[in-house]
Amino acid sequence: EIAPTAAANGPALWAGCWPDAAIDSHKYSRGTALVASGPLLSCGAARLAAEAALRAGAGIVTVATPPDAVATVAAWRAAFVVRPAADRTALAELLGEPRLRAAVLGPGLGLGDDVWPAIRAALKGDMALVLDADAITQASRRPDEAFALIKARAAGVVLTPHEGEFARLFPDIGGSKLDRARAAAAQSGAVVLLKGPDTVIAHPDGRAVINENGTAVLATAGSGDVLAGIIGGLLAAGRPAFEAAALAAWMHGEAGRIAGPGSIADEIAGALRDVLAKGCPEAKA
Ligand code: AMP
Ligand code: MG
Repeated sequence: EIAPTAAANGPALWAGCWPDAAIDSHKYSRGTALVASGPLLSCGAARLAAEAALRAGAGIVTVATPPDAVATVAAWRAAFVVRPAADRTALAELLGEPRLRAAVLGPGLGLGDDVWPAIRAALKGDMALVLDADAITQASRRPDEAFALIKARAAGVVLTPHEGEFARLFPDIGGSKLDRARAAAAQSGAVVLLKGPDTVIAHPDGRAVINENGTAVLATAGSGDVLAGIIGGLLAAGRPAFEAAALAAWMHGEAGRIAGPGSIADEIAGALRDVLAKGCPEAKA
């Protein structure tokens, strides 16, 4: 039975998920995340996600990229591991690597029919997943298959639709934003983070929180890609999907506020450093 109200999103829920590196941690123990880039003209979205994932807690971020974007991706950041994937079959193979703890699929990934097999391979794998942007649109073309794969897997999946993507993936779901996020989580088997000034994070078991830490600074191109990356970084660090999504929404708002008006998504990703430097707020009893 679904509870009628949702709690406010805050440290009482996710303080235990804050991405502090333990004194004895090394990059592998902090976790590896893969971010799948799309082709050259849309690869910037993956850059934002990859940077956010690395700042938000992943020890290593691997960027898988089609051949046409390899040189560009390699020039982004010295800190990224760049892996060319000659085609989507090769991407599926990269997604099968046992060391991966999380993958972010969607930002800039592509809408061609050749993309779904790689997403399907990821869904059959055992790393935690963030499905955003093009991955949501891909899933909306075969929702029955996508939801069956999500329900069959052990590791968590976080779907991060904005309203347009939500309507595409869940065309039959109506009601209040809270009700819709909950129904979508139940229908898909995934944690659903429904974006907006009042972002709702819902778990298939009926738990839900509303994030009150947003800011209109986030209403800028690439902002959602940063959010997907933050979630991916927290998942790579081993955090559970619902708490990771809730904490990521909070951190995203905090980063936007620190970056301030006039900021672009690159700077919101950069401000994660300041969010981490400020530390985890106290959980009120
Ligand atoms: P996307 O549309 O995928 O780029 O995602 C936009 C991100 O910015 C989501 O996390 C939204 O929740 C957030 N966002 C957009 N507009 C606002 C707003 N006016 N207030 C707070 N958050 C917002
Ligand atoms: Mg987006």
